[in-house]
Order: sequence, then structure tokens, then C-alpha cells
Amino acid sequence: MNDMLIKGATLVDGTGAPARTGDIAFRDGRITEIGGPIRSAARQTLNAEGALVAPAWVDIHTHYDGQATWDDAMEPSAGQGVGTAIMGNCGVGFAPVRPGGERELIELMEGVEDIPGSVLHEGMPWGAWHSLPEYLDFLSQRRWALDIGSMVTHGAVRLAVMGERGKRDEAANAQDLAQMADLVQEAVQAGAMGFSTSRIRGHRSIHGDPVPGTFAAEDEVLAFAQALRRAGRGVYQMIPSSTVGSAPMLGGERHSQLDELALMAKASRVSGRPVTFTLFQVDEWPALWRPARSSIPRSARDPQRSCSAWRLTTLSCASPATWRSASCPCPSAWQRCASQRSRRRSWPRRRLPTRSRGRWKTSSSTWR
Ligand SMILES: [Zn+2]
Repeated sequence: MNDMLIKGATLVDGTGAPARTGDIAFRDGRITEIGGPIRSAARQTLNAEGALVAPAWVDIHTHYDGQATWDDAMEPSAGQGVGTAIMGNCGVGFAPVRPGGERELIELMEGVEDIPGSVLHEGMPWGAWHSLPEYLDFLSQRRWALDIGSMVTHGAVRLAVMGERGKRDEAANAQDLAQMADLVQEAVQAGAMGFSTSRIRGHRSIHGDPVPGTFAAEDEVLAFAQALRRAGRGVYQMIPSSTVGSAPMLGGERHSQLDELALMAKASRVSGRPVTFTLFQVDEWPALWRPARSSIPRSARDPQRSCSAWRLTTLSCASPATWRSASCPCPSAWQRCASQRSRRRSWPRRRLPTRSRGRWKTSSSTWR
């Protein structure tokens, strides 16, 4: 006997096929029949006439990094039909965190995403992790109404390795680059979904400081691409300079949107991994999104269908190695990268190493 039968729904199966009216039956969390009319018995029957039934959204751009540590319901995303949420975007997140560095990560998130700092200070179990793998271990002990995945973030990595120099927009030296790339490789191999960075002036801490890494030179951007190549997995997420305009009030952006597209193409070639980025239509350049979009061959791009009506973000994706390859559009990349099964395999369920708390050392590097 089926556990549930949904009757008379408007079915949108996510393949691009036209919507159709039909029934769906479930048993043990799996679809057993679809189409109909289904006449087999079920413990519970729902009349869904007039309602849509569709696969859950994969929201590849969220900032649940703090909320995921204390909340199971993951609202409002779960209620909006999101089934998988990827957090750690825009270069801001909470691991790695150096001892005493919690406040600066909170102040970054508070400034960039307007999440109240008091909630993050009091709601998160600070001290339960230092490295990104330890953060993932902590998360793996929890359960939510939806699946989640986390990126490793440029801001956190730059602060962990370069400290105040990283905050002050100093160029990374060869040792910095090697240590930061090691942390990213280690994080992605431990289960992070990829690496994220923000390059716009508008993303700032509550004190007005840009996210560390905002002005990173090309060698730093590409060092992380090489880390993803070594890891052999992951997505490179970027908020390119000039995404929301030239920002004259903040001193002006340093790079044009089209220059940034060329940089992302290079990052994709160097990493051999997909790149996702945010593309807005802004008042200052109302038509620039067209050449920006068409600079990526149609076969290599795949816009994210928004899961929030108010979110006008379009995310496109470069295929690995070349903009022209059609071998790896975003959805399949995310299916591979973000499937719960592969994530659980790659998140080892080991206890948090209590001895490492306060020791400030990981297997791959010692941080300052
Ligand atoms: Zn963001």
C-alpha cells in the first residue's frame, strides 16, 4: 500500500515538459506511480485539484551559514519550495575562523547581508569549529527541513591566513597564496561545494570595510582556481566588480563587468570547474546585461531560475575548461556536486577534535 496519493494535481516535472494534470503515489519517501488516474490504495489521499506539484528548487545562492547552526526549519526557504540551499556565497562565511576572529566574521555578515550581529553572536555555538572541515562536521550532526551545502569563502580564508593584512587590501605574497589555496583545497575535499568571492565595493562590513578579497589581484583569483583543479570538484562563485554599477559614492569599482567576465573565463579554464556569477540589470547600464550574457556562448551558460519572485538575480555558468564546451551546464554540475549522497559521503562523521580547539592548526597548514 502506498503511504500517500496526491490526486488531480497540476504536475510540472522540471524537465521542461508541459504541465499536465495527474496523480502521484508515494511509498517510503519515493514516487511509486505518476500519471493516472491512480487507483491503488494509500494510507492518506490528498485532493490537489488546482494546486501545482513540482520538484523542489535548488537555490544556489543563500546565506544560511549562521541560521543552519541553530534552526531546523530553514524558513523562509523551505516554505517557498526550496529543497536544497547552498550557503557561503559572496565571500562571507564562518569558517575557517581564527581564535578571536569570530567578531570580524560576524561584522562582515552583518554588513553584507544585514543579518543582526546579536543573533549571530548568541545563536551560533562559537568554539565548535575552527576549520571549514570542522564546521561541516558540526553541521553533519544536524538535520533540517531541506538539504544544505556550503562554500568556503574568500573573506574567511583571507582573514585566517593574512589577518589584518588581509583586511587592509594588501596583496597576498607567495606564502599567503599557497596557504589560502591549501585551505580551499582542504575544504572542498572535505565536502565544501566550492569557493566564493565578492569583488564589489558595496559588500562591506558594518564598519564599511570591503569583504577581504574584494580587490584581489588576478594571481590570487587564479590561485583558488588552481585549488579547485587540485581538488577535482567544486564550483567557483563570484560577485564580479561592477555587478550593481560603478559605485562612485564608494570610490568607484576597479574593473568593468566585461573585464570580469574575461577573468571568470580564465578561472573556469584554470580550474576546469563551473563558474557561477550574479548578473543584474542596473539603472546605470540598463542594456549591459545583454553583451555580458552573449559573451558566454549559449551552450556554456545556464541561467538559474529564481526561487523567489523578488529576486531578479540571473546566474550563469561557464563550463569547465572553455566557454564553448557544452559538457557541463550548471544543473548537472550541481546535481553532481550537491547531491545529498555525495555530500554525506564526503562529510566524515567524526567527533569534533576537542584537542584542536584553540590549537590553531590543521592538517594542511598552520594559520596566523
Ligand atoms: Zn550573496
